[in-house]
Amino acid sequence: MAQTQPILITGGTGFIGSHTAVVLAEAGQPFVILDNLCNSSPKVLDRLARLNASPLEFVQADIRDSAALDALFARYNFAGVIHFAGLKAVGESVAQPLRYLENNVSGTINLLQAMDRAHVRRIVFSSSATVYGDPAVVPIPETAPLTATNPYGRSKLMCEDALRELHAADPRWHIAVLRYFNPVGAHDSGLLGEAPNGIPNNLMPYITQVALGQREYLQIFGNDYDTPDGTGVRDYLHVMDLAQGHLAALRALDTPKLLTVNLGTGQGVSVKDMVDTFARVNGVPIAHRFVARRPGDVAQCLADARQAKALLHWQTQHNLERMCADAWRWQSMNPQGFDTPL
Ligand code: NAD
Ligand code: UDP
Repeated sequence: MAQTQPILITGGTGFIGSHTAVVLAEAGQPFVILDNLCNSSPKVLDRLARLNASPLEFVQADIRDSAALDALFARYNFAGVIHFAGLKAVGESVAQPLRYLENNVSGTINLLQAMDRAHVRRIVFSSSATVYGDPAVVPIPETAPLTATNPYGRSKLMCEDALRELHAADPRWHIAVLRYFNPVGAHDSGLLGEAPNGIPNNLMPYITQVALGQREYLQIFGNDYDTPDGTGVRDYLHVMDLAQGHLAALRALDTPKLLTVNLGTGQGVSVKDMVDTFARVNGVPIAHRFVARRPGDVAQCLADARQAKALLHWQTQHNLERMCADAWRWQSMNPQGFDTPL
């Protein structure tokens, strides 16, 4: 991959994409961002500029828009695509399965077709640990059986299947399927972070909003799981480590291949551990109440992270304390998310 050829980041104004933009900029890798802004703010671009991580161009467009993609691929000689664009709210996907499948699956296929037309056959794809469903074995190896428990998970599995079929049919493709575990934290400048719309679904943004006083207390979904303290166990990784994983994947795709890799720490953290660590590190107590299990949740989900080390030469660098400190710095500096004036 020639350094001067840019990378296209789809979904690049979103949570993980914006942090990945910073990592690419630090590595001297130019990039273009395409996002339809359905779940992110254009103000992210001002923050990226502050971090010397501006894209060559920002294109407000949809990955389902073939004409927009063809025009963009004609303007740049892209070295590859990091494809984050997609809808990600599990509950919403249950209510609106066709919208999720159309956006995520049709969108990805449309993008792959545009890439093929432009002879750009290198892609890093955002998959998720959700493709393992309720895992029989933890830590979960990449060879574990795959399943979908909701339309969001189904959309990820369908995209993965499309990528596997594509590689089988045309081995010229360079494909990395990255299965993320639970990304949290924020850039340590406090300029970038996670800014969910409405009531957060995920644990860390909920905790930071309780810490800020925007929500009264955290509901801990279940304390009767078969885990050391009864609360759900997950593999949380710092979003900057996850962002570095994308650079590592791009570099590993120097030759045609299909890589499928978990990105996680391999360490299990319970909801109770997370609440206690956040309170201790930041000196802010987190009011909480134990409530019933959330439907669809599994007891434990953590990565066997050995493949990432072997194939991508990547492993996480930031510990749980750092994830909690950075998430809180971002939230406390930006109580209104990206609408907070700089
Ligand atoms: P995000 O919502 O912050 O970012 C996704 C971006 O994609 C948003 O900016 C949104 O506006 C854009 N987008 C959505 N549909 C689009 C379309 N049709 N055309 C153009 N842009 C579109 O989410 P994120 O947390 O940064 O996640 C990025 C990717 O990683 C997603 O594919 C998500 O499913 C996947 N993922 C996320 C997590 C997580 O916990 N955050 C875990 C596993 C996988
Ligand atoms: N969780 C919780 N309260 C919340 C949000 C999440 O107790 O308000 C728990 C959830 O049950 C799971 C863990 O926190 O055990 C991580 O949930 P999240 O939604 O962040 O990620 P998931 O692993 O479900 O994708």
